[in-house]
Amino acid sequence: MIRIAITGGIGSGKTTATDYLEQLGYSVVDADVISRGLTAAGGAAIPFIRENFGDEYILPDGSLDRPKMRELVFNDPAMKELLESGTTAVVVNELAAAMESCEQAGEAVAFASIPLLFESGMEAAFDESWLVTADMDVRIRRLRERDGLTDEMIYKIIANQMPEEEKLARATRIIDNSGSLDELYQALDDELARLTSEIIEKNSCNSNFVEI
Ligand code: ADP
Repeated sequence: MIRIAITGGIGSGKTTATDYLEQLGYSVVDADVISRGLTAAGGAAIPFIRENFGDEYILPDGSLDRPKMRELVFNDPAMKELLESGTTAVVVNELAAAMESCEQAGEAVAFASIPLLFESGMEAAFDESWLVTADMDVRIRRLRERDGLTDEMIYKIIANQMPEEEKLARATRIIDNSGSLDELYQALDDELARLTSEIIEKNSCNSNFVEI
């Protein structure tokens, strides 16, 4: 099975891209969904957060107080590191198990959506990394519309992420999403067509060794 990680900064269009791949029938394992599960009521990371950050970061229903934690980690890199140290290993394991299930199910290609792919070092577990990217002004406009965030907050979030140039240098494929949705879908179709021909080529090479 070919393992492909999809990544991109906030507002780049990762979700739009992975929604399209799912519509086409591909499996997409989502690191954010796994991560949210860890910090939901009864989630595996709740005891760690309670112990290291205090009860005031846990809501009465037992889940993480996300806005409060977001506020803390934006303003304190050491706290951000502490939070990540307690959650990354669990996310990595759960993600690997989900990809393994795709392989067991006989899928030829499976995707994982991982916003912090390069930051976490998870790229080593994948054959390819696809970076969804868009011009900064386009991302800011889309985020303003999607989340109603102030420009100041958007700049702060983006400044907190790995610089786009570094991601561009590390990704194996670039999916430019500065244009229309149709252009995004076309770029994804092109990558999928390339993968399909690579799989066919690989299988036909292998068949040379099969005795008939
Ligand atoms: P991410 O998951 O990377 O944060 P999203 O996929 O949620 O980004 O995209 C951010 C916003 O921009 C969403 O509201 C989405 O509907 C919109 N969007 C994404 N790509 C396009 C596009 N090519 N044209 C118009 N709107 C888009």
